[in-house]
Amino acid sequence: MKTDTIIIGAGLTGLTTAFYLQRAGKDFLVLEKTDTYGGAIQTETEKDFLYEKGPNTGVVGTPEMAELFEDLGDKIKPEIAGDEVNKRYILKNGKWEALPGGLWQGITTPLFTTKDKFRLLGEPFRKKGTNQHETLADLVKRRMGQSFLDYAIDPFILGVYSGDPAYLVPKYALPKLYNLEQNYGSFIGGAIKKGFAKKDEHEKKASRKVFSVEGGLANLTKALYQSAGEKHFIFNAENTQVFPENDYFTVKTVQNGAPISIQAKKVITAIGAFALPEILPFVPKEQMQKISKLKYARVVEVVLGFNHWTGFPLDGFGGLIPFIENRDVLGYLFLSAFLKNRAPEHGALLTLFLGGVRKDYINDYSDDEIRKIVDNETKDLMKLTNFKPDLFKIFRHKQAIPQYGEDSGERFKTVKALEKQYQGLIIGGNLKEGIGMADRVKQGKLLSKCAY
Ligand SMILES: Cc1cc2nc3c(=O)[nH]c(=O)nc-3n(C[C@H](O)[C@H](O)[C@H](O)COP(=O)(O)OP(=O)(O)OC[C@H]3O[C@@H](n4cnc5c(N)ncnc54)[C@H](O)[C@@H]3O)c2cc1C
Repeated sequence: MKTDTIIIGAGLTGLTTAFYLQRAGKDFLVLEKTDTYGGAIQTETEKDFLYEKGPNTGVVGTPEMAELFEDLGDKIKPEIAGDEVNKRYILKNGKWEALPGGLWQGITTPLFTTKDKFRLLGEPFRKKGTNQHETLADLVKRRMGQSFLDYAIDPFILGVYSGDPAYLVPKYALPKLYNLEQNYGSFIGGAIKKGFAKKDEHEKKASRKVFSVEGGLANLTKALYQSAGEKHFIFNAENTQVFPENDYFTVKTVQNGAPISIQAKKVITAIGAFALPEILPFVPKEQMQKISKLKYARVVEVVLGFNHWTGFPLDGFGGLIPFIENRDVLGYLFLSAFLKNRAPEHGALLTLFLGGVRKDYINDYSDDEIRKIVDNETKDLMKLTNFKPDLFKIFRHKQAIPQYGEDSGERFKTVKALEKQYQGLIIGGNLKEGIGMADRVKQGKLLSKCAY
């Protein structure tokens, strides 16, 4: 077989690349090792509940995400959440407190100490950091104070990365925040100046809006798959390996026991760093290790459905639990509060996460042990006298969220060196350029352009 471009991996990244290659009229094939497309994104319906097994919502944080919705037209119906998602709870001393949304709330909130609130006034005047590998924890302590780290940044990082602020390096993990300090000398001053800065029509498309898709996120990946064209996909592609030849690549794979060999001018990988050593056997071990050692958080996702909800009023996006509160649950998403048709009319659909980098051991607990934790914590935190969910599902994610730490610079350099050495090899996936769905779509679109 011969084709122009081979994409390895049919998650959101690979599907976006395939979608745009199809639109550009290019010749390509997608090799996916499982029997379906979507990767982490999988939606299910059971009883009267519609739930996600992976990501639940995204943010239209890149223009490319907004453009993908435009480009898909009426093939999907994006569901943009209302203002209720701006209400987010943080647990402090066992009580849910709303994260301040304005100045007055900022002054009166019990989440931060009075000392740190005063300290924040001096944030614009603090010197900017010089250590590009400073951790997020150190950066926030230096500019804002310990209580902002504990009750704002730490829970935010748990919600996004299931990670540890003392491991993540803002230059790589939160480049927008890092650049505020580096370019404007301050988070507050930088955010204000950026707010007033002129944006072109393309940049204006990005927003903080929270999205899902009517019928679940799987409808997004389904639309991408169908638009890219089913004939371009090879599922159950096992033991895929790439071999560079003179001015092309031979890609070998095995489908249902039958070996397949394909010649391609370009190979795009849209898989995690951990999957690369097997795919690219020609890369020396030492060099590959600089990429594949990227740490991934393991998480346990639990979906809870209730036909009749009698607990804590679900009037926001959800609640996050700072590490310092010493609980086993990382946080809850109140999905039925802001997405349509997720639960029966008077019921509720909640998703919660356990594990992550700092409570990694929870990932090894049995289903019974997980159930016990969820029972106890949810009864208490969601103010339920009786914990009798009508739906209880456990999903384990072994290599869920990459943790962009100090080793990221070396990883990016190695990727660039390999792409230079092997013209036509393009290494994508969540090992670089962001972990959220909007980042994946941005990268997927960019990857398609590399293959033109
Ligand atoms: C539990 C969880 C919750 C998340 N929550 C959110 C959220 O709320 N909001 C948000 O924006 N993002 C969230 N994310 C992140 C988001 O889901 C991912 O960034 C995105 O879906 C990843 O897409 P991807 O295509 O890069 O990778 P994946 O979805 O991992 O897809 C990679 C694909 O490659 C295939 N593959 C792997 N190895 C091979 C191989 N050797 N040969 C062929 N195919 C291979 C895999 O089977 C898979 O289909 C979450 C992720 C997880 C895991």
